[in-house]
Amino acid sequence: MLPAGQKLSIIVAVYYEEDCIEQFIKETTEVLHQNAINYEIVFIDDGSQDRTVELIKIAAAQNDRLKLVELSYNHGKQGALTAGFTYASGDYLLMMDPDLQDPPVEIPRFIEEIQKGYDLVFGVREEKKDKFSNVLMSNIFWGVLERFTGLNLPKGLAVMRIFNRRFTDQFLKYNEASRFIEGMFMHVGMKRGTLVISQRERFAGVSKFNFKRKMNLAFNAIFDFSELPLKMAVRFGLGLVGFGIIAALALVFLRVFVTEFQLGWPSIMITLIIGFGLQIFFVGLASIYIGKIYKEAKHRPVFSAKELTNLDWKP
Ligand code: UDP
Ligand code: MG
Repeated sequence: MLPAGQKLSIIVAVYYEEDCIEQFIKETTEVLHQNAINYEIVFIDDGSQDRTVELIKIAAAQNDRLKLVELSYNHGKQGALTAGFTYASGDYLLMMDPDLQDPPVEIPRFIEEIQKGYDLVFGVREEKKDKFSNVLMSNIFWGVLERFTGLNLPKGLAVMRIFNRRFTDQFLKYNEASRFIEGMFMHVGMKRGTLVISQRERFAGVSKFNFKRKMNLAFNAIFDFSELPLKMAVRFGLGLVGFGIIAALALVFLRVFVTEFQLGWPSIMITLIIGFGLQIFFVGLASIYIGKIYKEAKHRPVFSAKELTNLDWKP
């Protein structure tokens, strides 16, 4: 399995997961013990106000391989995971969700796969056991992302994925404030593989990624990883100028060679409306990037941890 002396760190972001957490710890540690894997599980609590932290602490009191980083407020999953990557000390890092949709029985397969010489192995889902509307939404989401960012992410990406120390250290050098983890993973590069894994229903509780959060993620992904919107604006602007010149020439031609006519106020109004609309559109587009620059320029820390359990190391 793992080469002697090496350790697996499992990174789990938790946010209001009191209904899943005990089952998650039970199932996961069972698989790890059965396969004699040297491990630690690093939980990052993303500011839950329910019993999530309490339950993890109870389990951690009996098993010092369970670690906990409590963030001081809700950072969002991306920030929470980054905290986890920072505190993990293993040779391999494996990302998981506590809702058991990607089942722990797949852990040994990931370990085997990455040792075939990959730096990162993405889990991909065999088929989505999901409502048709959800599958459609998710296809549109990834399709648009692909078109805009050219990131070429594997289809049916699962949360579960494994990567090695070299990859982790490189990833941790990325200090950007706005984080689209999948895009950053692709940007880090190195040798990537995929592993088809089984999938289950969420064990308990509800998904925290509603439509608004998903839209937010897509928005970040596009504006963090693409300059296409800017290029589109430039092309659109140029096209319009070209069209205007041709139209003006056509008007002159008609007036001089074909027939006498009144141009009237409607054409002026329409010109004004289109002109104003375009200005607002382009200013808006530019503002998005200015907003991003503003955010990065602040150089805020990506996460702030308030308390550590079974961890004495400070990054
Ligand atoms: N999560 C988090 N911070 C947040 C929202 C979600 O750490 O602000 C975690 C949450 O605990 C869960 C994971 O992200 O383990 C994925 O969320 P969920 O299962 O609700 O989303 P889905 O699987 O439906 O995409
Ligand atoms: Mg889930």
